[in-house]
Amino acid sequence: MPDSTPRQHAFATRQLHGGTPVPDAHAARRTPVHLTAGFVFDDFDDARDRFAGGPGYSYTRIGNPTTTSVERRIAELEGGLDAVLVSSGQAAIAIALLGLLRSGDEVVASAHIYEGTRCFLEQNLAELGIAVRFVHEPECTGAWSEAITPRTRALFAESIPNPRGRLVDLAAIAAIGHEHGAPLVVDSTFASPYLLRPLEHGADVVVHSASKLLAGHGGVLGGVIVGGAGFDWDDAERFPQLAGADATLGGRSWAELHGPGAYLARLRAHVAPRWGSTPSPLHASLIEQGVETLSLRVERASANALAVATWLAGRAEVESVDYSGLPEHPSHELARHYLPDGQGPVLAFTLLGGEDAARAVIERVRVFTHMTHIGDVRSLVLHPATTTHIHRSAAERAAAGIGDGLLRLSVGIEDVHDLIADLEDAFAAIPASARTLEEAR
Ligand SMILES: *Cc1c(COP(=O)(O)O)cnc(C)c1O
Repeated sequence: MPDSTPRQHAFATRQLHGGTPVPDAHAARRTPVHLTAGFVFDDFDDARDRFAGGPGYSYTRIGNPTTTSVERRIAELEGGLDAVLVSSGQAAIAIALLGLLRSGDEVVASAHIYEGTRCFLEQNLAELGIAVRFVHEPECTGAWSEAITPRTRALFAESIPNPRGRLVDLAAIAAIGHEHGAPLVVDSTFASPYLLRPLEHGADVVVHSASKLLAGHGGVLGGVIVGGAGFDWDDAERFPQLAGADATLGGRSWAELHGPGAYLARLRAHVAPRWGSTPSPLHASLIEQGVETLSLRVERASANALAVATWLAGRAEVESVDYSGLPEHPSHELARHYLPDGQGPVLAFTLLGGEDAARAVIERVRVFTHMTHIGDVRSLVLHPATTTHIHRSAAERAAAGIGDGLLRLSVGIEDVHDLIADLEDAFAAIPASARTLEEAR
């Protein structure tokens, strides 16, 4: 008898065909852009049914078919139950955490994360009475256990930390969180689901800045929250918003009605629309278009990044290169386990000549674009010490490994020979006084 089990398609096929299609009256091949604020009700009863939570759309802040289409595609690529698209990556992080945390709760987070996230945790959540405990050595799993208290309700880390790529052991940290009833939220922006699917390693929630690799072309902002199936939300002491009776559910709980999907169901209905971070359907469509070429772009960008990192490591002007694909990087072993198909487009390197050398390189590159962004098809360069990390003290920058000579690259999909030639030309512009450590000091 022929095997009737449907064949599980590979990633490159699922990025095009994955996710249940949203029905369309005209059978358009691509999900159309439903650029509309609202949806006409069929009749009196239909309006009541849709407001009561029945099928169909009512208002774009609550849901939109174009948005649904990309949500389903991304949920499938991450191996999640469901996904919620929001207006930016920063919104995804805020909404994901606001769905978990209440006043008096605590979150334990890696200290080596995106600056916008760090400030959100430290300032904005503190204003709501939610405290953050930072783990300063996130590579050391014991440090996570030490930071957890009876009030901890979530753990937060990045799958590939910005910008030095010191990886954390996601499975070990997820297990520590679960021992204490706390889910692990992972910002996987730098990896994309093509390189790493944190849910497969025990994480419970994945967030992305879709503005980066998912959209891929540096054209739009967006964010997405994906929920896994592994966490038991029916814990009324820790998560009363999910496990307690909810008047809008007729006195039942989200956990009772939605089981492992409780967190994301409530996020979609009561958290994201109320905080109002609605994505434009036009942006949702552009993100979906980006997702359709994700594997091709990320594979090429990762290969280019490894080649650039290898070239940089052999240059006399360079003190060190941070890329987990290099055998000498402290996270290389973890990268072999978590990122076997490539280590992503982002790398950092430190020039011996400090800020003078960094300035010379940035001002001379022609193929690399000087811009703050990552995951673009184009190669980008940035000097973190005077941009993303400008508000940190010199001591804090030193602790984060952000020296005056450090440059962050987000490598694109250009021909790698042109990228290396561009850097070589730019290195020639480094003034003699800033060519070596001895002369620079
Ligand atoms: C860019 C970025 C964000 C914020 O995303 P926006 O879309 O710019 O709001 C969050 N986390 C990481 C790792 C990022 O690179």
